[in-house]
Amino acid sequence: MKYLSTRDESVRIESSYAIAKGISPEGGLFVPETIPRLTLDEIGALAGKSYVDRAKSILSRFLTDFTPEELDSCVTGAYGSNFSSEKIAPMAFVKDGLNILELFKGPTCAFKDMALQILPRFLTIAGKKAAGGTKIIILVATSGDTGKAALEGFRDVENTQILVFYPSDGVSPMQKLQMCTQEGKNVAVSAIKGNFDDAQTGVKNIFTNPDIIKKLADNNMAFSSANSINWGRLAPQIVYYVSAYCDMVESGKISCGDKINICVPTGNFGNILAAYYAKEMGLPVNKLICASNSNSVLTDFLTTGTYDRNREFYTTISPSMDILISSNLERLLYHIAGSEKVNEWMSLLKAEGKYTVDDKTLSEIKDLFAAGFCDDEATKATISKVFREDGYLCDTHTAVAVTVYENYRAQTGDMTETVIASTASPFKFSKAVLEAIEGRESSLDEFDMVKHLAEITGLECPAPLANLKEKQVRFTGCCSRDNMDEVVFNMLGI
Ligand SMILES: *Cc1c(COP(=O)(O)O)cnc(C)c1O
Repeated sequence: MKYLSTRDESVRIESSYAIAKGISPEGGLFVPETIPRLTLDEIGALAGKSYVDRAKSILSRFLTDFTPEELDSCVTGAYGSNFSSEKIAPMAFVKDGLNILELFKGPTCAFKDMALQILPRFLTIAGKKAAGGTKIIILVATSGDTGKAALEGFRDVENTQILVFYPSDGVSPMQKLQMCTQEGKNVAVSAIKGNFDDAQTGVKNIFTNPDIIKKLADNNMAFSSANSINWGRLAPQIVYYVSAYCDMVESGKISCGDKINICVPTGNFGNILAAYYAKEMGLPVNKLICASNSNSVLTDFLTTGTYDRNREFYTTISPSMDILISSNLERLLYHIAGSEKVNEWMSLLKAEGKYTVDDKTLSEIKDLFAAGFCDDEATKATISKVFREDGYLCDTHTAVAVTVYENYRAQTGDMTETVIASTASPFKFSKAVLEAIEGRESSLDEFDMVKHLAEITGLECPAPLANLKEKQVRFTGCCSRDNMDEVVFNMLGI
């Protein structure tokens, strides 16, 4: 199966190229030319299988130029022993109407691990196939969580090196310690003076600097990107929706063939787009419910057809969803309306920050998606209510999804069994979660908050967060935007 660009359908490449390149030269995103089908019999057969087997079955349909042995090594490497749950992405059946898909059992306790544990393995193989054995160098600018998940994913993965820059005044003490204690032979971390934009601009400048690119090439090295528009991050996310459906069947919640809804707390539109691909493959899905926080740009788009990023930006207690440009939406628009329309709309988005889709496209979108948003107060109220009434503690992002889902059910009366994606451990966002259940601000530091949250809830803090304070700090450097390139050369020894 070939991959096309959302902005140029004459581009036709193999999946390994799509993964090695990340983005198409004219700015489009790579999409599969057709979406492979999954029959009900095949879904039924997966119901008795492990997550690793489910992943191999789904991924082999998309990554057709990977051999079975290559896929096997990627999947078992990623999901063999690095997760704290044997089921990798277990379902928590909290009560009738609350079926939670827990995507935070990986080494950094957030859903980014689901993709970032396997992407580096794809990239190593793609590097051999598509780039002639070149060593792959990953540079990341991070505002917190992605950097740590990428470091864990790439640590000690053959033929790769990763360097993460975080803004000196932009990450929490916990996030900083998570990164600066990172283990592994091929990793490095540096602070950069400034904010996230400074880090991001600095990394972009290095990526596109011809002198630096040449120096790398002379040493048989090349940059690649681990960001969320890479197809190698999206494909593994399709797996857990199929897996959740299988678990719903296994538990007797539904019979094979029954439809479910899927509700996803959304930022860059990657996670919910993976659910769309699962539906298009043939997974019986009724509605995809897109949940946003106060940055409700997607709710407006999915209900009116107008995407308008010219609006106030809110900093919320669900920071991973504080996004005004949801890059992966472009893929959905391509599948519904084609590349000509995508080019038109993306030019408008770039020039004016705004576009409106035609009526036919909007009507197809509305058939597929429902959407809603909620603010921080409603998010905290949900955390508190679900904990008190049902004994389940959810993080701030998950609580947005639960709130939006409950509103959806009240408004529509749609009682279809629904899977709600849970994207982070509540311990990762202890401050807001504590505030929600105690009803007041805490004066503790971040590390003591984690302990306190464990005490009052009786839950065990995930080991990677609990052990943090005892770990050795390995990286203390701080550079300025002007000498980031030296840091890169130093790390690479060139
Ligand atoms: C990244 C992230 C999201 C948003 O996912 P998208 O794929 O960007 O829509 C939601 N919750 C958490 C905890 C995240 O880290």
